[in-house]
Amino acid sequence: MKVLVSGGAGFIGSHLCDSLIAQGKKVFCVDNLVSGNKKNIEHLMENNKFHFLEQDINFFSFEEKVEEVFHLASLASPVDYFSKPVETMLVGSVGTKNLLDLALKNKAKFLFTSTSEVYGDPLEHPQKESYYGNVNPVGIRSCYDESKRFSEALIKAYEKQFNFKGKIVRIFNTYGPRMRINDGRVVPNFINQALNNRPLTVYGSGKQTRSFCFVSDMIEGILKTMESDFFGPINLGNPEEFSILDFAEKIKELTGKDLKIEFKPSLQDDPKQRKPDISLAKKKLNWKPKISLNEGLIKTIDFFREQNNL
Ligand code: UDP
Repeated sequence: MKVLVSGGAGFIGSHLCDSLIAQGKKVFCVDNLVSGNKKNIEHLMENNKFHFLEQDINFFSFEEKVEEVFHLASLASPVDYFSKPVETMLVGSVGTKNLLDLALKNKAKFLFTSTSEVYGDPLEHPQKESYYGNVNPVGIRSCYDESKRFSEALIKAYEKQFNFKGKIVRIFNTYGPRMRINDGRVVPNFINQALNNRPLTVYGSGKQTRSFCFVSDMIEGILKTMESDFFGPINLGNPEEFSILDFAEKIKELTGKDLKIEFKPSLQDDPKQRKPDISLAKKKLNWKPKISLNEGLIKTIDFFREQNNL
């Protein structure tokens, strides 16, 4: 079977490519390397079932016939989408359209990785798929949130107009090996700061919450969605919720470092709470995360230590 993965050289995308190759599939990995990294896929380059195409899906030409399309390409870190808001909007609109057209032409299965950010700064907690969200359409995060919401709406438009159904998974904060140490998100920031004996930077009060899912659990959820006859939208994430201050304590404990907390101004529109309700994934996919935060963080800390000689 031939499959296409957009964003395949990124953090989650490269792990997905690994699993698809392990299943014996022929993988076309498309990435423009704006936030992805060839290093994440270098171990696959010699595999004759793996094909890397350095291309931007916004200007995409692809003639192979594929049976599955996984659309992961995006600028997923706030630091990245704050600095490239236009590219972020294009990959979640023109890019999504191009990949939907490819899937439609090939009669391929299509899966889009949406985000918990479609719920914005949520007033409902935990977040169920039925919640419409609380997004500021002109705020600093809107380039990301609205592009993902647009993609979801576009998938529904293809269903209405062309009778073509695409799958939607809403990914909550995911972490693990191959995250970029400087991508600005809280997991790599805190680990990098801890390993370099620097204070941990907490934005705002640190009372805001997040729920962190280890990447292997996320990959399993994505693959199960593609294999199922369920189209979503479906939340994928780990419902164990931590305040950012508690998360900082966890990093101190696991790195064995006694570090100061440096409070910084909070980010505009930073969601105050986030925790997925995964009842639907449990019911429809028989899926729930297996890796505890301790276990996942130890693997992630080891990865950053090794990669950066720390
Ligand atoms: N955050 C923080 N210090 C950092 C980086 C992030 O306190 O060095 C906070 C950020 O304000 C947010 C949470 O951690 O409340 C998660 O941020 P991240 O960028 O990892 O992902 P988000 O869930 O906001 O997309």
